Amino acid sequence: MYLQVAVNIHIYQLLEYATPDENITERKSPSGAAYDNTLGLVFSEDATDPESGSGLASEQEAPGPKNPSIMKGCRVLVPVGTREVYGVVISQNQTPGASEDGSPRNRVRKIIKFIDSAPVFNSSIISLLLWAASYYHYPPGEVFFSALPPLLKNGSPARLPAIEGWERTDIREPEQLLSRLKRGREAWNCLKDQSLSAQDFKNMGISGSVLKSLEKKGMIRRINLRERESPWQQRNITVNHEFIMNEEQSRAVSEISSRSGFNVFLINGVTGSGKTEVYLNLIEEIILKGQQAMVLVPEINLTPQTVSRFYRRFAVPIVCINSAMSARERLDAFLLFSEGSAAILIGTRSAVFTPMKFPGIIIIDEEHDSSFRQEDGFRYHARDLAAVRARLENIPIVLGSATPSLESLYNVKIGKFHEIKLLRRAGNAQPAKIIPIDMRREIITRGLSDSLLISIKAELEQDNQVLIMLNRRGYAPKIICHDCGYVFSCQNCDSNLCYHQDRRILLCHHCETRYPVPSQCPMCGSSGLTITGNGTEQLESCLRESFPDESIVRIDRDSVTRKGVLEQYLQEINEKKHRIIVGTQMLAKGHDFPEVTLVGIIDIDSSLISDDFRSQEKLAQLIIQVSGRAGRSLKKGKVLLQTYWPRHPLLELLIRDGYDAFAQEELSKREKLRLPPLTCQTVIRGNSPSHRSLSDLMDEIYFLMQDVAGGFPHIRIHPPMAAVMERKGNRYHLNIVAEADTRGEMQKFLTALVKRRNELRHLCGCRAVIDVDPTVTL
Ligand code: ADP
Ligand code: ZN
Ligand code: ZN
Repeated sequence: MYLQVAVNIHIYQLLEYATPDENITERKSPSGAAYDNTLGLVFSEDATDPESGSGLASEQEAPGPKNPSIMKGCRVLVPVGTREVYGVVISQNQTPGASEDGSPRNRVRKIIKFIDSAPVFNSSIISLLLWAASYYHYPPGEVFFSALPPLLKNGSPARLPAIEGWERTDIREPEQLLSRLKRGREAWNCLKDQSLSAQDFKNMGISGSVLKSLEKKGMIRRINLRERESPWQQRNITVNHEFIMNEEQSRAVSEISSRSGFNVFLINGVTGSGKTEVYLNLIEEIILKGQQAMVLVPEINLTPQTVSRFYRRFAVPIVCINSAMSARERLDAFLLFSEGSAAILIGTRSAVFTPMKFPGIIIIDEEHDSSFRQEDGFRYHARDLAAVRARLENIPIVLGSATPSLESLYNVKIGKFHEIKLLRRAGNAQPAKIIPIDMRREIITRGLSDSLLISIKAELEQDNQVLIMLNRRGYAPKIICHDCGYVFSCQNCDSNLCYHQDRRILLCHHCETRYPVPSQCPMCGSSGLTITGNGTEQLESCLRESFPDESIVRIDRDSVTRKGVLEQYLQEINEKKHRIIVGTQMLAKGHDFPEVTLVGIIDIDSSLISDDFRSQEKLAQLIIQVSGRAGRSLKKGKVLLQTYWPRHPLLELLIRDGYDAFAQEELSKREKLRLPPLTCQTVIRGNSPSHRSLSDLMDEIYFLMQDVAGGFPHIRIHPPMAAVMERKGNRYHLNIVAEADTRGEMQKFLTALVKRRNELRHLCGCRAVIDVDPTVTL
């Protein structure tokens, strides 16, 4: 038997230069192994000897698949050059097969060791990962290893910890043995009809030594309770309904469940329309059939409140996966879900790779959220991968948002997705009214207009809560010399330093470098330094001056640093300990603030004039999402936007006709300009500490791309362009944008390009990566 193995070795995607001390394997092409250096694949011979590999090896020694014909998806240790590395078996063949260029694989090596006795990835996940590797042009070896939970990357056993427990043996004449054992008899009696865990006994005050003495007499034995647990499907699943669905909600549920197999649904429902209630009802149908549900949410929405809503509803095992969990917790959740012992998984982006034993449904809440996109290393979009996965598993996938991405709305337009609209807020809450404040006519105190201050005061007098959002943390984004105009900027980036009063530092928001607060200008020596602009810290202090008796809470990345702090603040807000809430866009996401009746958005103008063609889509989503935090209960809400362009066509359209009208308008604009999602983009991102070698390299890549594109009439390639921040983290960044009308054409082009990458010179310190379907172009 011959195996193809995806190995955990770093190899570059397009181009990377290694300094002698960096260990980049491809450059040291491991001799002797049949190693495909563009993919990170190794071809190995199965070392299990049919004579000795009789499956009798004890569990403790683990290695060796239980059934040698199913090695696909198991981890193995394989030789690559002189090293031993972990890999995942991705195919099994009777012959060694041939390499890409057709030459036979004649240097097949033997597997050193099997790590797993059962696959860690099932065949759907293997297909998904191979699809992703080919679509994103990322080496399969690295794709497989970024999909594994951290502990499985280093060869730890894929096993759940045992739950120690006890049960009776069928011993005769126990009475005789129990005489004079008071605690022992108590333990014995408890085990009459059931087995109990070591923890249960501890809770009853029965010590381990009591149990051990019964064990010695042969009366009870140690067991692993995990193996005795009956599957959740066999238990009585209770479901607690909080409300009766309204008509729109029931229609959505029946429309989705009436279609079987793979289908993509987009629930386009205004904020507060009760999308979660729809998900819960869909999940109910799925788990009553004994199948599993996977729910993906943005990182910031995975709060205990979200999870508890699921627990209150269903008495089934539920697991969570997010980056704040320990490696052990993540592995346990991965294993419980993949072996089918958990019914529901609630997770962030990377949870999309968790196998399901009984695939039922995938739900992506807030599908427009940018956190579903991985922005470095293996760049992928979890929403897109989830859709591919649902197709492979032939199950429905439901995307939900009040502000769907233009990508999803376009897919609705061309008939790929089924759209379901929820137009009314559940439970009779009224939509908030959006009103621009014309800043040209206002008296402004440190960024706050009089109109906004007056409205805040009025709401507080009614004992309501107000939420003020400014998408910039810190105290002030700029510090300038009043005498010579010198602006303090980062040594590593083309960026101004932001003044953080709380932490008493200047901070670069792009590379996180800190600088001491200066007392003098380094150019002219003047001590007349002034700050300009406004951040959330300053906004908070300004509101404290205007409302000295109010308790104010600030929510941004500086105030919410430790785990649990955000939850605590949200709790305090719900208890109305604070009536003024200040923060960044962290506030716009998903949280429910029923007592908030006024939302103020401080600065929207920079997004209105941005060069990035996606900035208006993002701004519209932000305005609608943050507006959705207001007026969730019976109190009516109001949203005030501070702007110098109250008559901006985007704002007028959004306010008058809503997000859908805005999105349709934006789509036709993108069509005219031939921009995504009507076309598809790939960006080649290059970076280097030397501007000179980077621009040489990017020119070279550009010419190669043009040459390759000769065979593809519909590929358009733009000359290298500086990134929005050209110098960042002490490296220069240049991009080449390629566009195609169809994905198929783009894929063929990229494949042809990657095949010719060896023609590129390796210039000192340069790197270049391929970013397919980027969410940020420049
Ligand atoms: P969305 O996710 O669409 O913003 P949620 O699912 O969070 O909305 O629901 C918004 C609010 O409406 C929640 O407070 C929820 O408890 C309530 N709600 C949802 N469905 C109903 C219903 N059918 N009847 C009454 N209240 C409901
Ligand atoms: Zn100066
Ligand atoms: Zn910097």
